Amino acid sequence: MRGERIKKTKTVCTFCGVGCTFDVWTKGRHILKVDPQKESPANGISTCVKGKFGWDFVNSEERLTKPLIREGDYFREAEWEEAIQLVASKFKELKDQYGPDSMGFITSSKCTNEESYVMQKLARAVIGTNNVDNCSRYCQTPATMGLFRTVGYGGDAGSIEDIGNAGLVIIIGSNTAEAHPVLATRVKRAQKLNGQKLIVADLREHEMAARADLFIHPKPGTDLVWLSAITKYIIDQGWANESFLADKVNGFDLYAKSLKDFTLEYAEETTGIPQEQLIQIAKNIHESDGVCILWAMGVTQHMGGSDTSTAISNLLLVTGNYGRPAAGAYPLRGHNNVQGAGDFGSAPDSFPGYEKVYDDKARAKFEKAWGVKLTKEKGLNNHEMIESIHGGSLKAMYIKGEEMGLVDSNINVVHNAYEKLEFLVVQDIFFSRTAEYADVVLPACPSFEKEGTFTNTERRIQRLYQVFEPLGESKPDWEIITEIANRLGANWDYRHPSDIMDEAAMLSSIYAGVTYERLEGYKSLQWPVSKDGKDQPLLYLDGFHFPDGKARLHPVKWTIPLDFGEEYDIHVNNGRLLEHFHEGNLTYKSKGISEKTPSVFLEVSRELAAERGIKDGTLVRLTSPYGNVKVKCVITDRVKGKEVYLPMNDSDEGAINKLTSSFADKDTDTPAYKETQAKLEIL
Ligand code: SF4
Repeated sequence: MRGERIKKTKTVCTFCGVGCTFDVWTKGRHILKVDPQKESPANGISTCVKGKFGWDFVNSEERLTKPLIREGDYFREAEWEEAIQLVASKFKELKDQYGPDSMGFITSSKCTNEESYVMQKLARAVIGTNNVDNCSRYCQTPATMGLFRTVGYGGDAGSIEDIGNAGLVIIIGSNTAEAHPVLATRVKRAQKLNGQKLIVADLREHEMAARADLFIHPKPGTDLVWLSAITKYIIDQGWANESFLADKVNGFDLYAKSLKDFTLEYAEETTGIPQEQLIQIAKNIHESDGVCILWAMGVTQHMGGSDTSTAISNLLLVTGNYGRPAAGAYPLRGHNNVQGAGDFGSAPDSFPGYEKVYDDKARAKFEKAWGVKLTKEKGLNNHEMIESIHGGSLKAMYIKGEEMGLVDSNINVVHNAYEKLEFLVVQDIFFSRTAEYADVVLPACPSFEKEGTFTNTERRIQRLYQVFEPLGESKPDWEIITEIANRLGANWDYRHPSDIMDEAAMLSSIYAGVTYERLEGYKSLQWPVSKDGKDQPLLYLDGFHFPDGKARLHPVKWTIPLDFGEEYDIHVNNGRLLEHFHEGNLTYKSKGISEKTPSVFLEVSRELAAERGIKDGTLVRLTSPYGNVKVKCVITDRVKGKEVYLPMNDSDEGAINKLTSSFADKDTDTPAYKETQAKLEIL
């Protein structure tokens, strides 16, 4: 380190969709400090504990630094030349033998936009399949579906700043203070300084619930019912925004009729929320000048996750809370680049820019640009890929930057599927649980070691700059994918991620005006970005994203939540911890963070603790029909009755995904992680 100069580099946090940016000060590979910049519109305030202290993993001795090739039960180190040649020749062999649809490709919502673009291009243009997906299938796809159905774009209606300026914020099924901490700070500040009202609906009385003007606790899986009852009550009271509906929305009469059964009495009986509270929420919405609704996995990870997301958007349409500042729908993206992964075509039915693979005009455009014939059949999503492996039709997978072997639901079934694959390539920065099943493991770089762009929850596109050289022989994902594509006969000439962005911007109307120059330093753009570089922080000012410019009210029905049977009498809610990122494979490797929070714990209510004789620190086993976990208990007022809370940030004995089932949202196949029940025994 001696003699090495101190360097300052701007980068973007990868631990959640808020997309905080900061300067990182380094000397050699030593991180001196993280310095949040006030001029950054995404954070504006600071970073949270993960953004500040969560980066030790980049220098971890456990990093993959050379390609690995399986030899029987072991892996041996290999040179890049051998590994790339093996991957390319095996892909070719399998394609020739079984056809292109025998392969599946998983992009990553942690990697850059440019890396998502080249991965889906490899699948579509080089292999010839639309079997490409990303991990937003596990979390936010139902929210996107709800918005696509009703307003046309799947992204947040406005900016994080709009949330701060709203008169009323409603948070549903989101542990915002821990999962999106800096955004939560904006709400806390608005409560204090602007008198903003806050309503929270959740199973758990987390920090934002405790701060709310009104906290409601619906029975698990009943959000659609109380949302629809409130919407009906608003219409019945004559509080609907009639001029907005007449000018800008289709389908009101049919939608209003569909609400017939959602009376306050029915809602109280089904959800357990007293009618007076439902009326209070309706009144607050009616009286507020600007309502923002924020939601996350507590809504989406259900059998009816898309329908509940749709119900949220319907409520905002009926009350005219779209197309103006400080209002609208704000699904909170979990990973840093969930939004970007979808924007750049990491989905089985969409090209970059959300044009559909079965749309002849769109396909012709991409065929011309890529110089190949493309298939119009919708591909498999990641849930269907696992089923297709078990069914025998999917023979190979290429998984980039996703720990599917831990984060998919019902992971025992997933592991059995991997064992059946003829060929599995895993590309990551650590040897993951998924990599244990791989034939080839390719060492990639984290965000600090590459350039590119991310798109955060408010559709904000930001650049990251290289802090360090890649560790060992690891390489940026876009470079590895480009090498594989070219070995398979493609002729890609990308020398820098900006070359990829230039091509993608040419093909995607929502990124049309994006260039690296326009994103220089702390500059950012929010899509859609027109060719002249003008962006749109606020959507729907000039109408909705449908041919006639009008939104569409979309009637929905309630799906009764899963019931695992009487024996499984504990409802297992799950979510995040402030200190850890996802399954924890990065943050447990960051010393300060892992010392503070070394493992997950099960939150147990006082009632349940008294009934079962549980104390703080008691070790229990939770068993569902799909597997079991062992975890220590913490007794708390945050949960009630037989509802417990198990953070998802564990990759070992406490991994929630051992308990969750293969049941999924009926419209998107997002697993119903939140509909999990178990029996509890003291060990
Ligand atoms: Fe990173 Fe999210 Fe924390 Fe910001 S709020 S520092 S993006 S984890």
